[in-house]
Formats: sequence, C-alpha cells, structure tokens
Amino acid sequence: MEKIGVVTAGGDAPWMNAAIRSIVRTAIFNGLKVVGVERGYAGLIEGKTRPLDARSVSGIINRGGTVLKTARCKEIKTEEGIRKAVETLKANKIDGLIVIGGDGSFRGASEIYKVSGIPVIGVPATIDNDVAGTDTTIGFDTAVNTALFTIDRIRDTATSHERVFVVEVMGRKRGFLALAVGFAEGAEFILIPEIKFDTETICRKLKQGRRKGKTSEIIVMAEGAGDSSQIVREIKEKTGYDVRLTVLGHALRGGPPTAQSRILANKFGAYAVKLLLKGAKRRITGIKGEKIVSIDLEYSWQQKKEINEKVYHLSEILSL
Ligand code: ATP
Repeated sequence: MEKIGVVTAGGDAPWMNAAIRSIVRTAIFNGLKVVGVERGYAGLIEGKTRPLDARSVSGIINRGGTVLKTARCKEIKTEEGIRKAVETLKANKIDGLIVIGGDGSFRGASEIYKVSGIPVIGVPATIDNDVAGTDTTIGFDTAVNTALFTIDRIRDTATSHERVFVVEVMGRKRGFLALAVGFAEGAEFILIPEIKFDTETICRKLKQGRRKGKTSEIIVMAEGAGDSSQIVREIKEKTGYDVRLTVLGHALRGGPPTAQSRILANKFGAYAVKLLLKGAKRRITGIKGEKIVSIDLEYSWQQKKEINEKVYHLSEILSL
C-alpha cells in the first residue's frame, strides 16, 4: 500500500476535520501518500482530488464542517456512477479508500469495494448515530451538547412564561439524538420514531404534572417522530397551555467539536489507516465501551441498531 484516498460523504458534521487530520498524519507517519477527494462521492465521480500533506490539515482539529466539503450524490447509486468513481480511484493510483460518513455513505463504499476490489474503510461520523456495531459515532456527542446548550436557554424562558416547549432535533428515521438530548436535558417527554406515543396521553400527563406543581415543560422530539407543528396545535387545543415550537435543525451539525468528539476522531482516523495497513478490505472503525474495534462494512448499514429502551423508560421515571 502506497497511496490512500479520503472522502467525506453525506451530511456534514463538526468532527469530520479532526478525522481528516488524524488520517492524513497517521498515513504520512507510516510512509503513505494521501489524496483528498472533494465534495463527497460527487467529487469522486468528477475526479476532483488533491494531494494532502501534513501542513494541509493544520489548524482544523477545532473547526466545524469539512475542509474537503461534502455532497449528497444520487449518481453514485447507479452502475455508471460507481464505474466513474472507480476510474478516479484507479487514475489516482489509490490503493485504499477511507470514507468518513454515515450509513448511506457506507452503502456507497460497499458498492465501490464490490466493483473495484479496492479496500474501503469507513469512519462513522453522523449526528444520527445510526451505524450498527459501534456504541457511538464521531460528533454525536457534539450534536447532543449543542442541543443542550440551546435547550438550557429555552428552559429559562419556558419557566419564566410557564410554557410548554416542543424542541425538534434532527433524526428523520432514528431517534438516538432526540433520546440522548431529552435524557440529558431532563425533558418531560421524548418523542422518537421507534416508540409509539399519542397526544392524549401526553396531555393527560402534562395536566397531572401541573397539578403536582410543574409550571413549564420541555418535550424533545426527533423530526421523524411526527409533524411537530401539528403536535403543538393538538397539545394547545387539548390543554389550553401556552405551547411553543423550536426547531434546532442544521445548527446541530455545526460548531467546534467537543473533547469527546475530537478524541474519538483522532482514534478512529488513526485506526482506519492501521486497518488498511493490516490488509483489511471492508471494515469500519467503532467503539465498544472503551475499546476501539472494527466492524464489517456491510453489517454496519444492513443491521438495524437498537434504541436503548431502558434509557427511555428511566427518562420517564426521572421526569415525574
Ligand atoms: P448522514 O446520515 O449524517 O446524513 P449519511 O452518510 O447516512 O450521513 P446519506 O445522505 O444517507 O448520508 O448518504 C450519503 C451519500 O452516500 C449519498 O449522498 C450517496 O452519495 C451515497 N449513498 C447513499 N445510499 C447509497 C446507496 N444505496 N448506494 C450507493 N451510494 C449511496
């Protein structure tokens, strides 16, 4: 192995830069050359690459976004798209590719390996934390902390005005982010796609809470749990309380990474390079407890990661 490629794909995240830096410097330390692919799989198809040296990743460990840029790319889902991507890898003499992204990016990575046989290593980086086999993904901790920073402030105004606040966080299909945010925030309710809920029960419990002395409440919901505006309307109608909606949206993808995200990015990046050097073909990096591990690439996106229902039920108890 002489030269490796690195690409950031899918939704951006404030930890991708730290992972790029770790990959580039570990590779150079081990005598490898590194090529950066710009704009995700779109850039791979278009042949947009540039060499990366140790200095090209200076001063980025604390910066949000990705210096390589990223994009959602439909063409990579076609045979023609994969063929062009593989052409770029071959034209650049890339012996191994590291893909920083989420489950969608890893599907693309699996196809690239199938067609080219070029080893592909995934580095899980998504605020959804929906990658199977790893306890957490790089940057998930940053997104949780960014949400908490804002909701702590929302709680102040909720308390002053005796309001119910519904706070929507990203998560179209999965509720890992909403669950972690709601649990850490001490939210009265957490609404996620994986667990059924109805507004009747929420309203009944809200009223019970007010009888017990609560004067304001926070409801954290994943965007995929339902129509947040509709839920706000229903709660307003059924309780008569002052109910407001805040959508945190893309703000959760930006900002400087937390210490935990940077440390994980450093470890995952270095381990991804080591996996390539050890001859791994299609793996992703992961963490189980304190241990950095590798997981089968296809397992990581084919296997459904389970929500921790114990945490969900504990959050209900703690919000009595
Ligand atoms: P995040 O969840 O944080 O947005 P992600 O990697 O899951 O990250 P996606 O938009 O799902 O984000 O996927 C990223 C890219 O991976 C897509 O834009 C597309 O280029 C590629 N991709 C997704 N699904 C497939 C697939 N089935 N086959 C090939 N490529 C795919």
